[in-house]
Amino acid sequence: MSINYIVDHIPKTTPCNRRPGPAMTATTITIHNTGNPSSSSRNERAWLTNSANDRTASYHIVIDERDAIECLPLNEAAWHAGDGSGTKSGNRTSIGIEICESGNYAKTLDNAADLVAGMLRARGWGVDRLRRHYDWSGKICPRLMYDGGKWTGWEAFKAMVSSKMKKAEETEMKPKGEQKMETVEVRVDGKKLADGLYDDKAGVTYVPVRAVAEALGADVKWDGKAKKVDIDKKK
Ligand SMILES: [Zn+2]
Repeated sequence: MSINYIVDHIPKTTPCNRRPGPAMTATTITIHNTGNPSSSSRNERAWLTNSANDRTASYHIVIDERDAIECLPLNEAAWHAGDGSGTKSGNRTSIGIEICESGNYAKTLDNAADLVAGMLRARGWGVDRLRRHYDWSGKICPRLMYDGGKWTGWEAFKAMVSSKMKKAEETEMKPKGEQKMETVEVRVDGKKLADGLYDDKAGVTYVPVRAVAEALGADVKWDGKAKKVDIDKKK
């Protein structure tokens, strides 16, 4: 994940109750669009503590083509779902992520999918844990994923998240770099002595040390307890 993740929480004293405080054990993640085609994630974060802002609205994370900014702790309620403060409300149970509409939106969307895929994986959740703002309050949000009723963009976003999760899982399961071992013939003074194994990745050939050392006229002592091989050249 190449997202620049910044934690910049608004103070508990922020006006208009924008950081209400109740502890939250989130069970879902809610996706929004900012509804502002020209603001970046830094603008949106700054707006939360702007003295001209008189709205009781907040969100946990805002993301654009460059940065994801965590504005409220993810274990505290925020005012983003528009469905009140009941214990089962989106405001009290869901992490709100605002996707900026400015700049390179395709890049922003890709970043958001990366972020969300990572968050779901970290919690052991699937894409069934994702919600639209719309699911809580009926507001047409995330509006850029709406297309007059079918929410094609929303389905596409979930598919994007899902494929990123799958890819991350596959990468995790693959061993770090494929190890290729090849058999090589080991000769001492032109006489084949043994087979060695050449590790292509490390650039190292493994040989039976006793056979090789003895063929070169040395004594070999193996100390299994100390995990040690002593090779002494005969005088
Ligand atoms: Zn919204």
